[in-house]
Amino acid sequence: MSDDKTQSWYDIADQHEPAWMPLIGDDGMGIFGCWCGAPYDGDDNGMAWYADHIAALGASDYINEYWANWAGIVEAPTGQLSRDAVARELADYSVVMDQASQVYDDLTGGRISKPNTAARHVISEARDSFDEFAAHDLIEALYADMETDADRKALVDYAESLHPGVLGAYQARVEHRAVRAAELAKEANPS
Ligand SMILES: [Zn+2]
Repeated sequence: MSDDKTQSWYDIADQHEPAWMPLIGDDGMGIFGCWCGAPYDGDDNGMAWYADHIAALGASDYINEYWANWAGIVEAPTGQLSRDAVARELADYSVVMDQASQVYDDLTGGRISKPNTAARHVISEARDSFDEFAAHDLIEALYADMETDADRKALVDYAESLHPGVLGAYQARVEHRAVRAAELAKEANPS
């Protein structure tokens, strides 16, 4: 890591600002260089060039991201920020965050809902959650019908490998149902 990377954006911004000028051979305005004197000689508006320029100086990731991807959307080709364009982008972004949050929450069984969670964590939790559902369903659907101890053990071993503790949870449900059935029978036929 170079010494440049220790500079804050504010240090960099003191000396490096995009210089906006009418572009030669073009109807519009655009970045033609940096106030530090670094010249731009490409043929678009220069925002991507400016992103590369300040990235090399050690500007923060979010600033690099802005110049590489967002400046061309929320700034006019004169460098003026458009409140309307910012509002539209933020509204879209809010929708994405809200929708992602709902998907994460549902797929992970409520364990993750923050939309900026790293994808690998969401995927890992979602897979654990699917395995848990599958394990409970297997035991619930098949345990009582297993005809031999060997079959029953094979089923339990597999289900427990998907999600430890499912046999215990199943046995607790069976016991709860038996107690409840006895209660109902007693209510129907008070002695
Ligand atoms: Zn510069």
